[in-house]
Amino acid sequence: MNEKTDLKNMTLSALEQFLQGQGKERFRALQVFKWIYQQDAHGFEEMTNISKALRSELAETAFISNLQAEAIEEGSDGTRKYLFNLEDGNSVESVLIPIEGRNTLCISSQVGCAMACEFCLTGTFKLTRNLSASEIVNQIMAVKRDLVRNPPALQTGGAALVENDDDENDYGNEVSPTAIRNIVLMGMGEPLHNLDNVIPAIQIMIDGNGLQLSNRRVTVSTCGLVPEMERLGREIPNVNLAVSLNATTDELRNRIMPVNRSYPLKELLKACREFPLPGRRKVTFEYVMMGGVNDSLDDAKRLLKLICDIPNKVNLIPFNEHEGCDFKAPTQAAVDAFHKYLIDRHVTVITRDSRGGDISAACGQLKGKLSK
Ligand code: SAH
Repeated sequence: MNEKTDLKNMTLSALEQFLQGQGKERFRALQVFKWIYQQDAHGFEEMTNISKALRSELAETAFISNLQAEAIEEGSDGTRKYLFNLEDGNSVESVLIPIEGRNTLCISSQVGCAMACEFCLTGTFKLTRNLSASEIVNQIMAVKRDLVRNPPALQTGGAALVENDDDENDYGNEVSPTAIRNIVLMGMGEPLHNLDNVIPAIQIMIDGNGLQLSNRRVTVSTCGLVPEMERLGREIPNVNLAVSLNATTDELRNRIMPVNRSYPLKELLKACREFPLPGRRKVTFEYVMMGGVNDSLDDAKRLLKLICDIPNKVNLIPFNEHEGCDFKAPTQAAVDAFHKYLIDRHVTVITRDSRGGDISAACGQLKGKLSK
């Protein structure tokens, strides 16, 4: 079988190798790469600075994949959930969170998830498969097109998924409702369980000739796969790291996050400490608060102790209830007390509001079209 190659799975250097392998000049790769990511070319016929002969030659061995949203739902708070059908009939979701003209896009890295966290809806479905690099990047490109066609109304208030906006140090700080500002890999799947595809996807995102995102605005979130954290830090040292901590004792974490049985808290925190973050950047610790499970002041106290020697910020996420899961949302009083405990001790804390709750786009509610 002579299958065509999807060029959107390739970083610029992979594309250079691919074209060199076909006897083409090296600069052709840059031309094609720019057509794909900066002009959003869907086919070779659009690439007018490349000869017709070469274009038709390329079309014989390669193609440029795309995703188109099958459905777009908009919540009352402006959050948009995109459903993408993949080639093989599987589907994934992405969520756009527009706040004050700053768009954060939450993308998926797998169909389903193998990590089986007890409280997460995606995790109750097993892993179906990894997304390819092109399927990861194409979520972003499809949403970009939608933003241009249909810019979100100005929304105010609410906390972004992660505050990557170290604005005091940010010169290119223009606000644009039609651009994607932050990418967070916090949708379906465990990104560090699919690094072979996530790494090239991020390289395409942050390539100045590719999607031109700043690496400080790309955040990878993990449940705590320690060896893969080390690999990510080695291969893309400048992206932001978020860690879903969710428990402050191994006993509880073992129970609600099976990954902890392989990489207990001590090892996880050591990997956080050693993760190469430039300058003033911090590790984001996500903490899903579940009523009566991990929402006491003792938990807050232990949390602070665990992370105090790591440059940190904390994202408190009140548990979003979903059917078939017995965990309960925390009371507002518990959230407030937990938040205050940390703030009073000079921790940067953001309590996430449940954006997108009315369209099942909130944290832990994504499932594509998976069914049991
Ligand atoms: N697998 C990665 C990326 C997913 S991020 C990770 O675990 O970090 C999704 C975030 O939503 C995680 O922080 C997870 O702990 C949180 N989450 C999962 N289910 C949730 C729920 N029902 N309510 C609130 N947050 C939830």
